[in-house]
Amino acid sequence: MPERAAIYRRYRPQTFSAIVGQEHVTRTLRNAIANGQVAHAYLLSGVRGTGKTSIARLIAKAVNCPNAKDGEPCDRCESCIAIREGRFLDLIEIDAASNRGIDEMRDLRDKVRFAPSMGQYKVYVIDEAHQLTTEAFNALLKTLEEPPPHAIFVLATTESGKIPATIVSRTQRFDLRRIPHKGVVAQLARILEQEKVSGESTALEAIARHAQGSLRDAESMLDMVIAFADGPITLSEVNELLGASDWEETAALFDALAAADGAAGITLVGRLVDDGRDLRLFVRRAIDHARALVLTVATGRAPETASEQVAAKLRAQAKALSLEQLARIAKRLVETEQNLRTSEGTPLPLELAILDLVTPREKAAPPPEPIRREPSTPQSRPHGMVTRAEPAQREVPRGAVVAIAERRSSPVVASPGARSPVVALETVKKAWGDLVERAKERSIGKAAQLAKADPIAIDGTTIVIAFGDEFARALWQDKRRAELEQDLSDILSAVVRVKCVRQQVAPTTDDPMLRAFVDTLGRPDRIMEIE
Ligand SMILES: [Zn+2]
Repeated sequence: MPERAAIYRRYRPQTFSAIVGQEHVTRTLRNAIANGQVAHAYLLSGVRGTGKTSIARLIAKAVNCPNAKDGEPCDRCESCIAIREGRFLDLIEIDAASNRGIDEMRDLRDKVRFAPSMGQYKVYVIDEAHQLTTEAFNALLKTLEEPPPHAIFVLATTESGKIPATIVSRTQRFDLRRIPHKGVVAQLARILEQEKVSGESTALEAIARHAQGSLRDAESMLDMVIAFADGPITLSEVNELLGASDWEETAALFDALAAADGAAGITLVGRLVDDGRDLRLFVRRAIDHARALVLTVATGRAPETASEQVAAKLRAQAKALSLEQLARIAKRLVETEQNLRTSEGTPLPLELAILDLVTPREKAAPPPEPIRREPSTPQSRPHGMVTRAEPAQREVPRGAVVAIAERRSSPVVASPGARSPVVALETVKKAWGDLVERAKERSIGKAAQLAKADPIAIDGTTIVIAFGDEFARALWQDKRRAELEQDLSDILSAVVRVKCVRQQVAPTTDDPMLRAFVDTLGRPDRIMEIE
């Protein structure tokens, strides 16, 4: 007997109304299709599992369905069924990730002129389109410049910033959102009902939290849990299978940090270790928690992907932590995650991070850390902690935050080993005009992009530069970085590196702290989903 197909395949939406969480996209598409105003090219961007390829196939279905009503395919006619079963000759799917598309694009250029063989439109879906080579993009561009009337292109990508602007400008673009928590839970509940499996609602909530807005991830996890549980699904099974360090624990960590309660933080870590939990996973969740808190602080609202329970907690914690504190916490957690990789199972990096984070930066540290009188927790043995807890070290902020802290408060004394800025941020800002002038000698275009960019922080020898648009950022981070580093090093008479970040922040802020922070977390798409 054939193996049962995966849930996410069996429950792939067959109509626009079955798409979860992307109403802003499906409504526009249905209207366009109903009014015969279909674009020749679409760009669907969004993180994995948010419905890009499903929507692409639905476009093919709707434009080829003779019974389409209000832009919605009937899902019963010959072409609808052929598309559902993957045997519709005029739906051509190209996976740019597996072969980078050169032959496909050449083939596409040769064949795109031929009329469709089964339907009214030939629909080309290019998945992971950002992976196409320059050659393939050029071939595609030629086709997009003069598209035959019967052809529709749908580009799907998780990284729209890597699609050349010349291509983007010829498409109608849709940004898919992470699926809201409630939408994921509701979809999981619908699937369980159809599968005739019962499950605790707390179990579905936990799966949705793990999936973080990716419906496909949630459905795959549900698949695993159903197979594992072999009966009704419970929260404890979900936790057992997904190695859940539940959000309550990351929330408890932030409670401890907000209260500057090192003992509570270390005790929490001891408990995780006793339970044999994966500390790196815990830290990764804590980074997500920090990210959600930044959003909450910056926008006054918890992210949509958060359940009500989580949202309430986030709002409470947002009152107790400033953006500056959160930036410091997040940066430290990112480092800790790295350090835990090489710490051979000892929780020391996480413990040190907690002790560091609960100790005030600006003032001298309070006398003995409470944790050093905590013999019941094996991990609380000082190891190297005593020296780390010396007051002098406490005053040194780290990384990207350094330069900002410098501007805001009295001069910071750098101690050996800390990554103090190689030049002051003010110096870089003053030198920026020279840099632009220098670039102008080579290209007005380059100079214009740099004139719109802004140095926002310095992390050791690395200058963090914010760019307003992703295209310019990618260009300077990638192809032109060496040139930029050379120019800046010359002008500043110091060897510097650069890191180009996107100035992509929540609307309430032009705070460089938040900008630097967004980059520290490295996943600005989550910030962007709150409009
Ligand atoms: Zn149909």
